[in-house]
Formats: sequence, structure tokens, C-alpha cells
Amino acid sequence: MAMEEIRRGEMLYEGKAKQLYTCNLPDCYVMFYKDDATAFDGKKKAKISGKGALNNAISAIFFEMLQQAGVPTHHVRKLSENESLVRKVDLFPLEVIVRNLVAGSMAKRLGLQEGTPLRHPTVEFDYKSDPLGDPLVTEEQVAVLGWATEEEVDEMRRLALRVNDVLSADLLRRNVLLVDFKLEFGKDTDGQIVVADEISPDTCRFWDVQTHAKLDKDRFRRDMGGVEEAYQEMLHRLGGVLA
Ligand code: UDP
Repeated sequence: MAMEEIRRGEMLYEGKAKQLYTCNLPDCYVMFYKDDATAFDGKKKAKISGKGALNNAISAIFFEMLQQAGVPTHHVRKLSENESLVRKVDLFPLEVIVRNLVAGSMAKRLGLQEGTPLRHPTVEFDYKSDPLGDPLVTEEQVAVLGWATEEEVDEMRRLALRVNDVLSADLLRRNVLLVDFKLEFGKDTDGQIVVADEISPDTCRFWDVQTHAKLDKDRFRRDMGGVEEAYQEMLHRLGGVLA
């Protein structure tokens, strides 16, 4: 059966790295990945040519890998270089962070060396708010503030750890350590909790297994240079190409 032609409608939302559009399919949106890079809650900004296409391609590979492993996601299919078709979901106002090694804000907050191993992966919840700097919240606070029920928090935690298992194992075969990453979850029109947003070098820390070379957005955050090259390297290691 020929695939129906997707026509993009009005822009519903513009974030720092993506735009969301309505389309002619019911319960679906078109996600457009921009070349804009931001860090420190939008305080640092730049354009990185090719980043949108690379993140779109990498995210599609990860979402397809998760779906194959039985993890529900909002991803339907990649549409073009910078666009993907996604299912409509209601996002929880949370960033769900999984860590395998100490890095970033955890290293800073607790005065620990980046790369310090953890006894087992951890899941933490941040309240999604740029003006507040995405503060860490307890699971109890999430529930009492009505952002998600206790059962929904448990389901997000379970899915986040499953995502970690699937992606970490695949990446290790490609000589990449999954240090930490951020997920966003939403509820689809049937009430099912699914992984949404993107999974890319903007939202994960990837280190080369041997050298610990950074293949992610830390190259931008820390002015290390070679940002686009690192994202290209990740797509290459995942066996993907820019269509
Ligand atoms: N992360 C993200 N968006 C955010 C905050 C964090 O995608 O708003 C990702 C980040 O790329 C890293 C992981 O979540 O892979 C953990 O980030 P951390 O809490 O260390 O914060 P950071 O210091 O990177 O802002």
C-alpha cells in the first residue's frame, strides 16, 4: 500500500532545537529538527550546520531500536532530512534522567570526578522549566504536585531503565559508553505512557569506550570544537546515513 502523502500544517510549538507542526493525519504531528544549539537553559546559543538532520537521523535509529525491543515511543517514521512523523502525546512536565556514570550536573553538585562509576543505573526527575533551570524534584513532589501519579512515576522509571538497557547494550557493541541521558514521556490518546521528544547527542552523553572522547553536546557546552564531526561520528557508528 502506498504511504499517504504527509502535508505539514500550522506550527503549534517552537522549542530551542525543534518545531512541532500539525499535519493531515489524525493524532499525528510533524517534528522538525533545527540546527540551533543551546545550553545552560538557553543562555548559550549557536547554529551548528547539519545538526538538525543528524539528530533527526540518530533519534529515528534509537526510536526504531526501542520499538523493536517492545518499548512504546511516539515515533512513527522519519519523513525527510529534518522531519519525523510522531504520534500526538500529552507530555509530562518532567525530564527523566538516567545515569550510568557520574557526569555533568551530578559531578558538579556532589563534587565528584566525571566518570566515577555508579553501583547501578539511577533515575532522577527534573521539573521542566528553563526559568528555574530544570530543578531536581523528588518522586513524592511529582505526585503531590499532580505532575504524574505514583503509578505513572513507577512506569516512567521502569521504561527509563529498560531504555537504558537496550541503548547501552547496542552502543557498547559500537564502542560507545552511554554515560547518561534525558528522556521525556507523554501519554498517547489511548492513555499509554510512551517515550517522546528526541534521543540524540543533544540529550545523551556518549563517550568512546577506550579514549573517553566525547561524542555529544558537551563539545558545544564546553567549547571543545568538533561538534558536528562528533554527531556525524555517532551517526556513522550507528550505521546510519543522512538521507
Ligand atoms: N539533559 C538534557 N536536557 C536538559 C538537561 C540534561 O538533554 O535540559 C541531558 C544531558 O545531555 C545529559 C543528561 O541529560 O546527557 C544529564 O544531564 P545533567 O543533569 O548532568 O545536566 P547538564 O549538566 O548536562 O545540564
